[in-house]
Amino acid sequence: MHLPQRMYGGEAARLLAENPRLYSLLGRAWREMLVVEAEDHRARNLTSNAGASLSIHAISWTLLYHGHKLLWKDGPHMDQLLLGVGGTWDHLASLICQHLRQSSPSGGTPLTTVSTETIFQIERIYAVLGFIPGPDHVLRAPRPEFRTALVRHGLVSTLIRVVLPLASNPPAELGEYKNVPVDTLNLLTNWVLKDVRSDMRMVDALDAGFLRFLLGIARTTGTNPQAKQPIQFFLESGFAQHCVYLSVLRALRRALPTVSNLDPEKVFTQIGLGDAWRKFVEFVHDRLEIVERFDSGELTQWRVCDDMKCGRVGPKREFKRCAGCCAVWYCNLDCQKADWSQGHRQECKTLAQTLAQDHAMLVRGDRSFQRALLNYDYASRQTNLTLQYRPFLDDAGPQRSAMIYDYRWGTLRPHIGGKACHAAAATRATIARADRSDGRAQLSAIRFVQGPDVRERFLMLRFASRHFNLAVKQIPAQLVATMPVAVYPPEMVHRVDALTEHAGKWTH
Ligand SMILES: [Zn+2]
Ligand SMILES: [Zn+2]
Repeated sequence: MHLPQRMYGGEAARLLAENPRLYSLLGRAWREMLVVEAEDHRARNLTSNAGASLSIHAISWTLLYHGHKLLWKDGPHMDQLLLGVGGTWDHLASLICQHLRQSSPSGGTPLTTVSTETIFQIERIYAVLGFIPGPDHVLRAPRPEFRTALVRHGLVSTLIRVVLPLASNPPAELGEYKNVPVDTLNLLTNWVLKDVRSDMRMVDALDAGFLRFLLGIARTTGTNPQAKQPIQFFLESGFAQHCVYLSVLRALRRALPTVSNLDPEKVFTQIGLGDAWRKFVEFVHDRLEIVERFDSGELTQWRVCDDMKCGRVGPKREFKRCAGCCAVWYCNLDCQKADWSQGHRQECKTLAQTLAQDHAMLVRGDRSFQRALLNYDYASRQTNLTLQYRPFLDDAGPQRSAMIYDYRWGTLRPHIGGKACHAAAATRATIARADRSDGRAQLSAIRFVQGPDVRERFLMLRFASRHFNLAVKQIPAQLVATMPVAVYPPEMVHRVDALTEHAGKWTH
């Protein structure tokens, strides 16, 4: 079917507004034409392909670009469109992603000249950009099931792959469509950072070529603030705040070499972001060194027995895990029995629930990595953190202070806090365990960003020796509390350092 170009707007729009059932017909035609186009592509039958492609162009432009206001009214038009494409949000999401994949303006090769076909392909992308709302768009908030379906069908990576040739090597005569890469970037920023699993979306984006995408836009759009702002945000904090996720760090490790021959430092310097780029690369390399030590097992090999009275330290492989909560480890059966009667009996279920919540929030490797990161960062700032924490070591009961390890800005910003949030059962269980440890286990929380939320997980930092905390308590609290951070007298620093040496290994 063909809709004449002049019919896309005015007259056709009126006709469609008055006859919602047409949306069902168009939806069905759209779906079928995409199948025909894909088959023609496979058979390299470019003559008949042109017919299908033109129809898809016409349908998408009419339905999505001109029709998006009608569709987002959530009335009969959207219902009919859903009916036409197969019945569910999943069908619609799948169709949109297929449509985008088949709208690649270059078919994967660099664009040199702009033909009519290229413009038609770009217009097909443009129609979708006008229709897909951001995850938190005020007027066009997609229903959660539609948003999830789009993400599941790979919207983020598809958009990047399809628009990448335009971003990195745009032909000169794009006219009104020259902003398509920047519009895509702004849409992507929302889809990546505001998705509830921004860590996973970040990985999708990086693996699809997001760094090359940003670099391409920086090179071709210069200091256009629409383009510069999101790039600056990603380089200065968007990436860094996701570097508490092992999965994101690994994706960055894969992605950085793909831009190394594109002179990124020079390109970002031209738009005034050279410094931001250098700091970002340096930061990622520092974290990747921690990842290497994590991968080698160095940072996770030691465990301390969770019978807090025992506290034996040993290689993880020799320890046994509680099968009920999977959260605590013992050096032998006697310790497990002892801890059960001392209090684990009451907390096992709660700890299992906490672990289930962690499972929903983080992939397995990320949970373990965050603990290793916390231990590592603590060990490298131990003197200062100990002195900061000293006045609060005597706190007891539900008003207990915790050391908060705040990674919301990428690098660690530690501070004391956490009193307000101790009502949760899981936190009370953690406090009870810390109490049984005689100070060997320190109440700590890691704070980090995940999509629109700030997450907090309580993790216990553990000393191999309880003598460390006992000795720290001998430093008068009042003395430490009166001093601003980082200007402790040398003899006090020396005293803590000496204690640190006796503290033994940091354990998992
Ligand atoms: Zn248990
Ligand atoms: Zn033990």
